[in-house]
Amino acid sequence: MPKGCVYLVGAGPGDPDLLTVKAARLIRDAEVVVFDRLVSKEIQTLIPPGATRIFAGKEPGRHPLRQEEINDLLVRLARSGRRVVRLKGGDPFVFGRGGEEAECLAKYHVPFEVVPGITAASGCSAYAGIPLTHRGMANAVRLITGHGKEDAAPEYDWETLVAPDCTLVVYMGLGALERIATSLIAAGMPADTPAAAIENGATSAQRRVIGSVADLPRRVRASQFVPPTLIVIGKVVALADMLNWFDPASVQERVGAHVAA
Ligand code: SAH
Repeated sequence: MPKGCVYLVGAGPGDPDLLTVKAARLIRDAEVVVFDRLVSKEIQTLIPPGATRIFAGKEPGRHPLRQEEINDLLVRLARSGRRVVRLKGGDPFVFGRGGEEAECLAKYHVPFEVVPGITAASGCSAYAGIPLTHRGMANAVRLITGHGKEDAAPEYDWETLVAPDCTLVVYMGLGALERIATSLIAAGMPADTPAAAIENGATSAQRRVIGSVADLPRRVRASQFVPPTLIVIGKVVALADMLNWFDPASVQERVGAHVAA
């Protein structure tokens, strides 16, 4: 691993077993790790004790470090000759601002590599027993954000998001869930379309609620879900009970195995 390089690394949704081989190796050899709140506690325990850890925040409405500050920090750390791992939840190039950080590194001629990770849409859905596509149920997937500019709910042409055979995955959708559900139904989505919310997916704290697009906001409120929560809407959600295979408690055992390795 050369010095002075920044690795924009996707940590996946939480389970350390879902790190890529490259991500696990880079974390093990890192001198500095700049990480987000989305990086699960289980994965944070894999950062070697000798490495400098820098928490870059990223909480809804609260940014301990502003994006420009993170960009500057990465450039400075790399120029000081350190091996820098910029660890992000999921995939760095899916709603992760990895593109912005890469742009900045490119602009300042800092060498960088991008290590894709398992994005929440595929990781959380798999661990919640929801196939994103399924013959006869969904032949397309759409990933959208529920978070617009300056903390407002996003504006969409909602009709274009209502397609009977498309699974809709909403990142950062908890705050605007009520509005999203109402808008989809108003745009023609059947109110009984199956829908799920997955909180802390693929971690030892995973919870899921299953319902319809109409009643999901109420169910999510009743269960007091907090971020990170992923919303999945579409016929495929109807399979979630039959395909419910994941035992959250098993994640803890895997952390032990990684630390021992
Ligand atoms: N780059 C990340 C997404 C960052 S945006 C990725 O590729 O997954 C943050 C949003 O991602 C959260 O609000 C939530 O909607 C979703 N998310 C990420 N990890 C999650 C997890 N473990 N469980 C549930 N939702 C998650």
